[in-house]
Amino acid sequence: MRAMVLQEIKPIENNPLEFKDLPIPEPSNKQIRIKVATCGVCHTELDEIEGRLEAKLPVILGHEVVGTVEKLGPGAGKFRTGDRVGIAWINSACGSCVFCRQGNENLCPDFLGTGCDVNGGYAEYAVVPEDFAYLIPEKFSDSAAAPLLCAGAIGYRALRLTGLRDGQILGLFGFGASAHIVLQIVKYKYSNSKVYVFTRPGQKDHQALAVKLGADWVGATGEIPPEKINCAIDFTPAWKPIVEALNILEKGGRIVINAIRKESKDQESLLRLDYSAHLWLEKEIKSVANITRRDAEEFLPLAAEIPIIPEVREFELEQANEALNLLKQGKIQGAGVLKISE
Ligand SMILES: [Zn+2]
Ligand SMILES: [Zn+2]
Repeated sequence: MRAMVLQEIKPIENNPLEFKDLPIPEPSNKQIRIKVATCGVCHTELDEIEGRLEAKLPVILGHEVVGTVEKLGPGAGKFRTGDRVGIAWINSACGSCVFCRQGNENLCPDFLGTGCDVNGGYAEYAVVPEDFAYLIPEKFSDSAAAPLLCAGAIGYRALRLTGLRDGQILGLFGFGASAHIVLQIVKYKYSNSKVYVFTRPGQKDHQALAVKLGADWVGATGEIPPEKINCAIDFTPAWKPIVEALNILEKGGRIVINAIRKESKDQESLLRLDYSAHLWLEKEIKSVANITRRDAEEFLPLAAEIPIIPEVREFELEQANEALNLLKQGKIQGAGVLKISE
């Protein structure tokens, strides 16, 4: 099968993903094999490629995988061949530890990430435990469905963790694949809430998309919006937006950081936090780690009901390096998706 493989850690500018012809993987016990139609491109892949997040090399990246069930492994019976399913970042968890038993399988010590600890979807075929695959609602094309599996599902989880109540103001820092989906969820579920969107300076296309999707105010990170925000989600790879968000955060507010790793170059801005200005009066900073199956299972039908319309830009599988370079430069509007087979 055709696959794009990460062999060693390098800057993405060196185009480190290599095209390989690999054997088609066999599904083991309770696993299914999926013929991959599309796979989304995510910031977490940049973290793996550039070494901020340790992946088990060599690895096929990709954790927003959409395709059809093509072969059932021994004992698998949840799906039939031909069903259209998705794989997300959570590839498996132990099911028996204290975190799994409480429904927090995203925190399981044996958590395995798709396209990180095991092979993912930058390839023609992928295998996954059947309990960690999800039916894709008919409403979505293969390309539109892909970003729902990470950008959408983790955005949904991050939004839940903010504790936003209807009528409160939410700030979104960074306006890419995840934020443009979160904005659509908020406009549907919290019709009295305002959403302020902060981008890098000069990202006029991103700001225009935010306005089109219903943002109540847009500006560059560091600009002062009309009112304080009650909570925020940070989708950026940088630290400065956290400090800027804390500056305009209302008392008792919470900032949720949606990133597995930050690029460290401006870490000193976080270390310069001023307790009285940034944290006093019960302001909180919280991270969102991975997703649970419940997040994906709740979010996909909600996305179809709203319906979420993901903005996608398609690439060929062999263009994965190019797609990731554009992602790093903030030049992909909405979500990047690799089209792998019809
Ligand atoms: Zn992701
Ligand atoms: Zn566990």
